[in-house]
Amino acid sequence: MTNNSNHYDYIIIGSGFGGSVSALRLSEKGYKVLVIEKGKWFEANDFAKTNWNLKKWLWMPKLRFFGIMKMSVFKHIVVVSGTGVGGGSLVYANTLPIPKTPFYKTGSWAALADWENDLRPYYQTALKMLGASPNQRLYDGDLALKQLSKNLNIGNQFEHPNVAVYFGKENEKVRDPYFNGKGPDRVGCNFCGGCMTGCRHNSKNTLDKNYLYLAQQLGAEILAENEVYNVEPLDKLAGKTGYKIRVRSSTKFFKKKRYFTANGLVFSGGVLGTVKLLLKLKLKSLPNLSDKLGDDIRTNNETLISVSTLDNNKDFSKGVAIGSLLHTDEHSHLEIVRYSAGSGFWRFSHLPLAIGKNTPSRLLNMFVNVLKSPLSYLKIYTKSWSKHTAVLLFMQSIDSTLKFKRNAFGSLKTSVSFGVKPTPNIPESIELTKKYAEIVNGKATSFALESLAGIPSTAHILGGAVMGDEASTGVINKNNEVFNYENMLVVDGSMISANPGVNPSLSITAIAEHAMAQISDKSL
Ligand SMILES: Cc1cc2nc3c(=O)[nH]c(=O)nc-3n(C[C@H](O)[C@H](O)[C@H](O)COP(=O)(O)OP(=O)(O)OC[C@H]3O[C@@H](n4cnc5c(N)ncnc54)[C@H](O)[C@@H]3O)c2cc1C
Ligand code: SF4
Repeated sequence: MTNNSNHYDYIIIGSGFGGSVSALRLSEKGYKVLVIEKGKWFEANDFAKTNWNLKKWLWMPKLRFFGIMKMSVFKHIVVVSGTGVGGGSLVYANTLPIPKTPFYKTGSWAALADWENDLRPYYQTALKMLGASPNQRLYDGDLALKQLSKNLNIGNQFEHPNVAVYFGKENEKVRDPYFNGKGPDRVGCNFCGGCMTGCRHNSKNTLDKNYLYLAQQLGAEILAENEVYNVEPLDKLAGKTGYKIRVRSSTKFFKKKRYFTANGLVFSGGVLGTVKLLLKLKLKSLPNLSDKLGDDIRTNNETLISVSTLDNNKDFSKGVAIGSLLHTDEHSHLEIVRYSAGSGFWRFSHLPLAIGKNTPSRLLNMFVNVLKSPLSYLKIYTKSWSKHTAVLLFMQSIDSTLKFKRNAFGSLKTSVSFGVKPTPNIPESIELTKKYAEIVNGKATSFALESLAGIPSTAHILGGAVMGDEASTGVINKNNEVFNYENMLVVDGSMISANPGVNPSLSITAIAEHAMAQISDKSL
């Protein structure tokens, strides 16, 4: 066993929800921990003021953009994900719903445990750690959803969702309100709507303000701007004696390389990071990874449709990023999403909503819609976009899966493995959009790729290293341990083994808490 400053008990690859929980809980158990993160550290002032500052908002290293959001286009889906110390928590919309019963009883993990009961205490811990509390104020976009709930006679299904935001007195700084003074100062939310470009006010409870902050106090080290590109078992077999982890700079022109060693390894790079790295390693140093790797990729069957109001007196940019939620039936729900005033970048990627089975029928539909009300479309494209636009995020727990494989250049590619391929044309979602648009006197638009190519977008990519009872049915067991390798875990969105039907970060946090609770303390 190596005993030098480059050696750790556990190395964690990625600092999102799974990685941050692992960092704190392993540190508490007495282990020496290193977290390696390819994105940057961000202080409140580092975040972009609006999403026009692409360099600070987007992660596109080839263009020297080192921001917090990455966009990845595949044949069947466009994925947005987070990058930076704190992973997706930097860019996410803070919403933390608990999934309904079908999540725990479907998918490859269903028979492995009584998940609904077993995870209940871990969901409570996760809510507490992330500082979740119900959104405190409804603004124009949310009030229109409330009106929709009344029009549909489902007013009792309207919710102020739990969000990871500190709601103290607006703009007032207070000593840590969450961790008996051990956490950082927080500032009361001012409802500016900027959560998805990064909170510049220290009000959003990102992971660097809770799990990672506390882990660092216990000695965990965080190495930012470095990407793990290779892992080899030291014994060349099952990792009994540990692993060699090779990293290279992710932000410098000259990609300085070095390596670390560790007894144990936690893959927490998010689906796009973990599955891509593991597929590469399976071809070389980790050949005994399960053949299920890359299978069971799910989304929340989402649609993201924007509705822009023609009324000048409405302001959809005010509020937290997701301030309201409506359960529209037992499988589906709708959330209202916003960007802050001035964040109008998305206007250029949106076309009038077009419904149809194929591209020609969608184009025809779009053309007819624009011809019917050309001035309205002119108005929405020339007015302040974020102030007048609410994004309708519709999700369903109905199942279908994709598969990730490597292409000839080592990048990921998708294929359909079960059920229908993801589609932006979900009739319930279109119907709800029409009704919402009537309430706000608005016009609907969607991402150009949805309108033109029928490819939907998701912020909730899940699966690819799912649970099973053995290597033929899953990549990991019910405690997140990788089959056929020792002291190796996958703890991030790739472990999610069924469709939660709701935003997944709380579930990732809770399942990570469960996985970490199974690891014993370091023996002295
Ligand atoms: C715009 C947006 C809004 C969202 N809103 C919500 C919401 O309201 N509620 C919700 O529940 N979810 C939301 N999500 C989804 C949520 O962000 C993700 O589900 C969640 O972050 C996934 O957590 P994770 O643990 O899988 O890893 P991630 O949070 O994705 O973190 C993985 C980290 O690993 C790093 N990494 C990857 N590969 C490597 C490597 N090889 N070496 C070093 N580092 C690596 C990445 O840079 C990243 O920082 C949103 C996402 C986006 C993009
Ligand atoms: S609404 Fe504004 S102040 Fe509140 S958490 Fe979001 S970005 Fe921060």
